[in-house]
Amino acid sequence: MNPRRRNLPFLFATLTVGALMLIAPAPLIEAQSGIRGFSASHADAERQLEQWLRKIPDAEHAENNLRHITAEPHMAGTEGSHRLADWLRLQYENDGFDAKIVSYSVWLPLPTEVKLDLVAPQKKPLATQEEPYEWDKSTYDSRASIGFNTYSPSGEVTAAIVYANYGTADDYRQLESLGVSVAGKIVLVRYGNAYRGIKSKLAEEHKAAALLIYSDPADDGYDAGDVYPRGPWRPMSAIQRGSILYTEIYPGDPLTPGVAATPDAQRISPADARSLPRIPVMPINAQDAAAILSHLTGAKVPRAWQGGLPITYHTGPGESAVHLKIVMDYQQRKIYDVIARLPGTDDSEWVVLGNHHDAWVFGAVDPGSGTTVMLETARALGELVRGGWKPRRSIVMCEWDGEEPGLLGSTEWVEDNVKELQSKAVTYINTDVGVAGPNFSASATPSLQDIVREVTREVSDPNTGRSVYEAWKEHSEHAVNEPSGVARERPLRTDNDAPLGTLGAGSDFCPFFDFAGIPSLDVGFNGDYGVYHSLYDDFFWMKRFGDPDFAYHATLAKILGTIVLRLDQADVLQFDYSAYAETVQHEAGALTAAAKRVGLTDADLAPLADAAAQLREAAQRTAPTLRALETSASGTAQHQQVNLALAAVEQSFLSPGGLPGRPWYKHQLWAPGSYAGYTAVMMPSLAEAIEHKDAEQIRRAIAGIAAALTRATAKLNEISRLAQTPSSDHSPS
Ligand SMILES: [Zn+2]
Repeated sequence: MNPRRRNLPFLFATLTVGALMLIAPAPLIEAQSGIRGFSASHADAERQLEQWLRKIPDAEHAENNLRHITAEPHMAGTEGSHRLADWLRLQYENDGFDAKIVSYSVWLPLPTEVKLDLVAPQKKPLATQEEPYEWDKSTYDSRASIGFNTYSPSGEVTAAIVYANYGTADDYRQLESLGVSVAGKIVLVRYGNAYRGIKSKLAEEHKAAALLIYSDPADDGYDAGDVYPRGPWRPMSAIQRGSILYTEIYPGDPLTPGVAATPDAQRISPADARSLPRIPVMPINAQDAAAILSHLTGAKVPRAWQGGLPITYHTGPGESAVHLKIVMDYQQRKIYDVIARLPGTDDSEWVVLGNHHDAWVFGAVDPGSGTTVMLETARALGELVRGGWKPRRSIVMCEWDGEEPGLLGSTEWVEDNVKELQSKAVTYINTDVGVAGPNFSASATPSLQDIVREVTREVSDPNTGRSVYEAWKEHSEHAVNEPSGVARERPLRTDNDAPLGTLGAGSDFCPFFDFAGIPSLDVGFNGDYGVYHSLYDDFFWMKRFGDPDFAYHATLAKILGTIVLRLDQADVLQFDYSAYAETVQHEAGALTAAAKRVGLTDADLAPLADAAAQLREAAQRTAPTLRALETSASGTAQHQQVNLALAAVEQSFLSPGGLPGRPWYKHQLWAPGSYAGYTAVMMPSLAEAIEHKDAEQIRRAIAGIAAALTRATAKLNEISRLAQTPSSDHSPS
């Protein structure tokens, strides 16, 4: 591609956009081509506006904000989280946003007591907290949470141990073939390969008495590189906290599935909540895992099960026995979302952004880096407004509470506002782990992939000086499955472009995308990050390893801000439904092959392939009419109708009844895997039917998905007609 990245001297930072449009300094913009979605005359002003915005995000501001955000622990359900929400509301208000706190009452436990002892072959208390480090004063904070897994039930168990590798369905099959049963035992598994809630669900299904999850040095510790405080990876004493809520069934408040957790909402009883785990689960560190594993006997484990600890791993049981006691204080607790609006000239269309503000402890990377970037983005937009600019579409910036326990704040807000969001929100932009290093990564619904690629071509990468796009593309070509505590999504396409992942269920885009059908994307910078969900994910870590000069924080704010301006200002919104159809066609092929592999040779996937082909044709037919509309007068009622309809195509993929066995998940094309968790599965009803080798289920899944694709095709045809009809309304934007 033509590298259009330029470092033009910016001369107009103090002028208003109105003035910029008048001056229209031709030499500066001459070499720029148009922008998709913008009329030629409007594209020039848009470039000026974007360049203006990108001058504003600033490393020093970001550093100061992150220092404040990480000053005290702020776990959901605690005062720290409430205080941070209040402070964030003020920041948005100072930037000119209309900001308020929206509160929900959710069923949320906090730990009262977590105790773990090795009782055989010798007695020894095991750790429930990390060791402090003398140069990092945060690590001495007595308010830091102990290591625990949210939504574990209370319980007390003494039992022998069985090691089950990552604790996936495959791992249990292997154990069975080795003649090892986990019934009545405490299962010890390592983090990685699946969401921890899936590990809990599988241990429960296999009748284990309890589950311990530890961090193996092979996955995010010394095998990956130097550990904290010498390097960014996980030291032996670090514990990965985290939720085990069964969010793949439904996320959000466990007692109000599908509706907002307002004070007077109808609540189900905890005994009926299908998202609540039923056996005690707790996380432990690698050091204690070694103490337990070294006394296991039984079969030597399969080669791939051997982790990075200096012992030979055995399945057990053996001499090791553990006593664990978990006392959880389950209550209705308040969570505090911050919703900040910058009203546009047209409030019937919204661009929505979000990140969570609650953290396990200090959360410098997760989510503080993303929050910092959101604040820099808000400051930049606020400065544009002070300079005389006004958004066209309204901009809504959200700081979610309770993401860590199970996407509580975002899910409840989306459930609360689903009708309005479906009629107004054109996109939801998420960031969470904003900056963990220098490697850009993004996930998006297929129709929004190109905007991420286009915008990253305009922003320069601090380390290499090339565009973020070039650095991203090159890094992704060389990256081989890097170890990391954070789940990665598999790339959607493997063509010559920089790859974007699919949207799974790891963050707050889930309710927007899977439940409400709002086109969504998620962006951030990854890196060597081993302290995920531990005490050590703090300001010290960020300053020493993650982003010492905060250049990547400022860079991400430039990217976010530019994406917002492009979506906010576009004459005709750019959703690429050809790419969408292509992705579906590609996956339909893969699923046909999968069906053949399991012996389902007569599974007929043709209706699916046909429906995808029709969607693609409709998208191709619509494209020229949209381009024609782009060049006509902008901001008419016709434009508005077409834009809202374009964004709403994603909603065609929803079905009111949802997926088989999980009615909350409405989207027919993507969902978190029932037994994978973070990873998105495409056409989940069909993929699971093939796995179950159930011909009737396969037939129903194909019919459901084909119907969804056909609805989208009809919607595109309607858009084509709308765009062609000459409009009498030429009210200016
Ligand atoms: Zn997070």
